[in-house]
Amino acid sequence: MDLPPLGPVPFVPIPKIFHSAETDQPFDKCISCSCELGGDGTGYLIEKGFVKEETAFEYAMCFECHQKIATELSPASMKRIEHYFGERIDLEERRSEITERDPKDWEQWISRCVLSGKELGDEFQIYGQCDGGDLVLAYLPYAICGEELENIAQILSKETRGRIDEFVDDFLGVPGSGLRIPIPL
Ligand SMILES: [Zn+2]
Repeated sequence: MDLPPLGPVPFVPIPKIFHSAETDQPFDKCISCSCELGGDGTGYLIEKGFVKEETAFEYAMCFECHQKIATELSPASMKRIEHYFGERIDLEERRSEITERDPKDWEQWISRCVLSGKELGDEFQIYGQCDGGDLVLAYLPYAICGEELENIAQILSKETRGRIDEFVDDFLGVPGSGLRIPIPL
């Protein structure tokens, strides 16, 4: 998404909800290229899906691999997602508001659905951007509720959904249906 680059932003040690449920530790490797993620200055993204408080899937991915996948998705789908977000949330404004309230209170970033403003319910996904051992509080992190994930899935092209399903099959080792998109940002 086309958001202005930020200067220094607040960060906190990665909270437990962004740890790997499998190891009970912070993610240490990129799911795609297996590079090490723990070092300062290493930027990566985390996505986790929850169903009734259980982790349904999870991964961390380095910026390079994320960029590669994002370029494989259809530009039309990306535009539609951007538009969908743009109509519902101003991520710059959200960032300023939260940062003014209490920049290091990370929970407020994912306490409600970023798109609908509603409570998250039984099924939702969270997204975070990290640098080594820290969670960066910038445009991410955010959470998206199940209903909005469905809506986003609906606006993607068939190709893009196919590519995402492949990604999910290849890397997460679970069937693609029911799991949705790693939001490109
Ligand atoms: Zn990677």
